[in-house]
Amino acid sequence: NLEQSDYSLAIKNPSNHVYQDSKQLIGAALQKRVENIDPETCGVGEEDAFFVADMGEVYRQHLRWKMNLKRVKPHYAVKCNPDPQVLRLLAELGTGFDCASKAEIEQVIKMGVDPSRIIYAQPCKTKSYVRYAAQQGVKQMTFDNADELYKIKQLFPGAELFLRILTDDSASLCRLSLKFGASLDSAQGLLELAKKLELNVVGVAFHVGSGASDPKAFLKAVQDARFVFDQAEALGFQLHTLDVGGGFVSETFDAMAAVLSDALDAHFPPHIRIIGEPGRYYVANAFTIACNVIARRTVRDPELGTTSYMLYLNDGVYGNFSSIMFDHQHPVPRILKAGDRIFYDKHEDGYELDGEPGTKALPTEYSIWGPTCDGIDCISARCTLAETLDVGDWLYFEEMGAYTKCSATRFNGFTDKHETIYVSSESGASALLGL
Ligand code: PLP
Repeated sequence: NLEQSDYSLAIKNPSNHVYQDSKQLIGAALQKRVENIDPETCGVGEEDAFFVADMGEVYRQHLRWKMNLKRVKPHYAVKCNPDPQVLRLLAELGTGFDCASKAEIEQVIKMGVDPSRIIYAQPCKTKSYVRYAAQQGVKQMTFDNADELYKIKQLFPGAELFLRILTDDSASLCRLSLKFGASLDSAQGLLELAKKLELNVVGVAFHVGSGASDPKAFLKAVQDARFVFDQAEALGFQLHTLDVGGGFVSETFDAMAAVLSDALDAHFPPHIRIIGEPGRYYVANAFTIACNVIARRTVRDPELGTTSYMLYLNDGVYGNFSSIMFDHQHPVPRILKAGDRIFYDKHEDGYELDGEPGTKALPTEYSIWGPTCDGIDCISARCTLAETLDVGDWLYFEEMGAYTKCSATRFNGFTDKHETIYVSSESGASALLGL
């Protein structure tokens, strides 16, 4: 039961207060973990990349959601980052969950979450998974085509169905409507078929694309959903829920939420239940990753007389930086440790060095690579850092919580399991998780 005052305490405080706390906590955890690792003597894997996650950030995002989208009950999209502590915190905070597979449903059910808090939000489902959902009592699920309706009729006729409709997702980072969603033209036919099969359609769902940037996409989707609600009602269905999907980005959330809230109030009366499926919004900024420099190649350009370096890290595009390929991200490298010196958060403006204001280091040019054999395993084709780094040094990257570790592979035999150190910059989250 989080009240507005909690939110005010957490967010309305001078923003740098909470932010600084978070930075300091993350910095202290990063430093503690790396300071005693000696690449000359450490055991296998001791220098592996690792995450630091601030659960306070997840908590704050939840408060912010509740303030800005009062009507919308979030169902966290597990696919985005199925981290067990994130799921635990959100379960404690009372959110629902959007699951896309049997494994995700199982993970959430095993935490003791009631199946009524889960939506199986995948319009094209595996048959055995539908049977599993039926056994577990996970009734809410989406569909967007006739074949899926026949499948559900056969396997789970008592399911509570959401017709997922197409959206204009052209302004989003990851387009989903290329693959899923019924066109408005086809909605009537699908609803008629559902009626004929005596299936229970309870709502409409949409997703404006992950990393959405145009608030108008939400407005149009809500209007379209209203149209389908009316069609369904004319056929005798009594729809009670609208699912507005995910797509929210922390930086633009307030503006998106304002447009969405107005659209909901304009088109859906208060008795209609509204749910959402945010993923990235909750976790993107909460996770920082630290990676070790495992090798370095010196590149001299005799004509220009310059020296730059290729740095090879122990994590890359086939690992937690899968977000570069799958999620169109550009992670920014920052120096954590160079030689014996810790640089976390000390070199942001003009390359000021640790504790020595005004001292400028010589910027050095790098390209940054992952550990596998593949040439596409490149984290940054070109960047400038304040120090000349060497093997054994550490870099960190912020905003690594969304669509990162969940899509990591074990290509070349590297691990896809990386330690996560949990901290919390909010007492509310600390209490719930015992941090
Ligand atoms: N819901 C569905 C059906 C999705 O496919 C996705 C992402 O692919 C999400 C929710 C989460 O989206 P986001 O992380 O952009 O909020």
